[in-house]
Amino acid sequence: MATIKELIDSLYENEDLSDEGLHRIITEMDAETAPYLFEKALEKKSNFYKDTVYMRGLIEFTNYCKQNCAYCGIRGKNSKVDRYRLSKEMIMNCCEEGYALGYRTFVMQGGEDPFFTDEVLCDIVSTIKATYPDCAITLSVGERSRESYAALKAAGADRYLLRHETATKALYDALHPGMSFENRRNCLYTLKELGFQVGAGFMVGLPNQTPADLVADLRFIKTLAPEMVGIGPYIPHDETPLKGSKGGTVEETLIMVALARLLLPKALLPSTTAMGTLDPKGREKALKAGANVVMPNLSPTDVREKYELYKDKICTGDEAAHCRQCIEGRIKSAGFRVDMGRGDHASIQVPEEAQAVQIKI
Ligand code: SAM
Repeated sequence: MATIKELIDSLYENEDLSDEGLHRIITEMDAETAPYLFEKALEKKSNFYKDTVYMRGLIEFTNYCKQNCAYCGIRGKNSKVDRYRLSKEMIMNCCEEGYALGYRTFVMQGGEDPFFTDEVLCDIVSTIKATYPDCAITLSVGERSRESYAALKAAGADRYLLRHETATKALYDALHPGMSFENRRNCLYTLKELGFQVGAGFMVGLPNQTPADLVADLRFIKTLAPEMVGIGPYIPHDETPLKGSKGGTVEETLIMVALARLLLPKALLPSTTAMGTLDPKGREKALKAGANVVMPNLSPTDVREKYELYKDKICTGDEAAHCRQCIEGRIKSAGFRVDMGRGDHASIQVPEEAQAVQIKI
């Protein structure tokens, strides 16, 4: 039988591995072999992105949500959340500040808030695009219709993040009351068809999640081949039905980040805030395991604490400039170089006018 190191080598060479092999890596990984996995994942990342790490400016623009995901702190039924939504003017102020700080990608994330109809959201997207034509706009506002996604694309959105959350139907159904496993996946296929750069992704350490479920997640991303894959530990929140559950660890999440890198060598993989929440060095560790994106927060400080997806979320009190500096310091101290450009997927040709300003630091 192959050793775990041999399986990692095979995955490195072929950019794929059997489900059985992936299962063995996940279940048989130990402290001695994990550094080898991370080293190979980082080597793979370096082949396409050298030592760069892309920065995205994150704007958490609404915490209203009509959905009730069992793990999420801003689920609609959590009556303790102090709800907010940013006005168009406030969002434009965040972009202005972000642009001045050097950001050339804005990620607009929020709950599924019915206030942001196609008309309202398209107006915001097109205004950002008209004001900052050299910036990429990423949306992450959940499930919408094909018509809605098409309208947002036409308004100027370039990318869309919609984690599939888990590729196991039974687990998905248990965690998402009133939602459809098939619809979420169909949204991802639709977004791809419409020409978005798409981000899928999943949480690690969900209650009742097994290694076979994680293998299914890896197989799903390998098949879908999204441009971005958001992988983060599940962290419990006290005002959810999953209160008191255990949650994921940095160690098991790092293994999944590294495996995602080896399966999708050119993927844009964020080092998530959730990793930094569990471990002060969590984000640096993710970068060393193959992640190549960070998303410092540009939201106004007075709303930060209200976008609490899980407990003890970090960086809620920091000004945008402070966040940028802090993360830049972390990236550099981990041995990487900050790239403030649009940070497109390695296979994407960006039109010249959109590349006008590429700031390298
Ligand atoms: N509403 C949009 C959506 O459904 O894609 C975007 C916002 S949603 C809050 C962003 C992501 O937060 C989810 O995809 C989920 O994976 C993550 N998330 C929510 N609750 C979490 C928790 N307790 N621990 C870790 N991640 C969580």
